[in-house]
Amino acid sequence: MAATVSDREPDEIASIREAVRALCAKFPGEYWRALDRERGYPTEFVEALTKAGFLAALIPEEYGGSGLTMRAAIGIMEEIQANGCNGAACHAQMYVMGTVLRHGSPAQKARFLPLIARGELRLQAFGVTEPTSGTDTLSLRTTAVRDGSEYVVNGQKIWTSRIEHSDLMLLLARTTPREQAKKRTEGLSVFLLDLREAKGLTIRPIRTMMNHATTEVFFDDVRVPAENLIGEEGQGFRYILSGMNAERILIAAECIGDAKWFIAKASSYANERVVFGREIGKNQGVQFPIARAYAQMRAAELMVQEAAALYEAGRDCGAEANMAKLLAADASWAAADMCVQTFGGFGFAEEFDVERKFRETRLYQVAPISTNLILSYLAEHVLGLPRSY
Ligand SMILES: Cc1cc2nc3c(=O)[nH]c(=O)nc-3n(C[C@H](O)[C@H](O)[C@H](O)COP(=O)(O)OP(=O)(O)OC[C@H]3O[C@@H](n4cnc5c(N)ncnc54)[C@H](O)[C@@H]3O)c2cc1C
Repeated sequence: MAATVSDREPDEIASIREAVRALCAKFPGEYWRALDRERGYPTEFVEALTKAGFLAALIPEEYGGSGLTMRAAIGIMEEIQANGCNGAACHAQMYVMGTVLRHGSPAQKARFLPLIARGELRLQAFGVTEPTSGTDTLSLRTTAVRDGSEYVVNGQKIWTSRIEHSDLMLLLARTTPREQAKKRTEGLSVFLLDLREAKGLTIRPIRTMMNHATTEVFFDDVRVPAENLIGEEGQGFRYILSGMNAERILIAAECIGDAKWFIAKASSYANERVVFGREIGKNQGVQFPIARAYAQMRAAELMVQEAAALYEAGRDCGAEANMAKLLAADASWAAADMCVQTFGGFGFAEEFDVERKFRETRLYQVAPISTNLILSYLAEHVLGLPRSY
């Protein structure tokens, strides 16, 4: 691959990237293809990343994490994707803990973060989305009602990913009825639900177009100790929002990694495949789309770096994190489409991994936030246009 931002990174990040590449080399295409066929979870891959400490990148050293910067963390996620692997199986382990780190009590941080950092506790499930509310999070219907020293949870979540491979779940539920909340954005609370002991949970896997361990979850009088409430009751929406920038930046980095994978794959195929007695890459009709995808990826990569730099400096990065996610998801999808076209019929054959990665990267136009909602955010909050919904 030609020069990219990663060539100018400090040595520390370069060596992290190299270590991730070495780890990913042990999980080649055949590994992912076999799992994809049976919709299996990449347990060995996730264990290897955990053991190497990569998933604890953003946990401060005082809690046993690696205490790395956001730019180092995006290096990790990007390399995973650029090397043909799929970080969606575990990316949330890196950022869901941020809610505990930023809003948890000292006792909660001391209790959970060191175990999460060591990989002894997996916190990679978060339940926000519900079937009836969709993107309109403030309309969610799952309730948590205080009963003595516990809360009792009833309701339903959908698209709760990795819950079957998680010990804890970050749960957003309504604690004050909407009409009684002082403000529109109040009345929701965040809990850490211990899945190992929770009773009354029903989990149903949802089979999706790509291998993604996602589920729907039903709560029937599930009891959560009040000590597992994170921060103040009623402020949960604000806490969840504050974690979204990290999530968007990291997922944008994954999209950049995907785009790099598609571009590298297409370039080498176009150099090798001979049709009409010459390499297909000699045709501008083949090389221009690859070059365009590369330029698009590089532009998006700059926005991801900009968002990460602002995040690290503790500055407001809402607009940049959203734009990074939007541009990177567009870049990876454009690169995916270009790659299938470059491969011709072989783009559809399982053995080249192109169709698998094509299906996997499509998700990021929709989740964790859909492109339309980012555009609405930019229109309203950055450009001052009227709210459209
Ligand atoms: C594989 C997968 C894994 C996921 N994992 C998780 C998870 O772990 N935890 C979790 O909580 N959620 C998860 N999600 C949910 C994801 O965040 C949502 O799917 C996403 O936010 C979109 O919400 P929705 O599907 O309800 O779409 P809807 O809100 O129903 O929207 C449908 C379409 O309408 C558009 N739309 C809606 N309102 C507007 C508007 N006002 N203006 C313009 N367009 C609009 C949207 O952009 C979208 O294209 C996951 C989803 C998938 C598919």
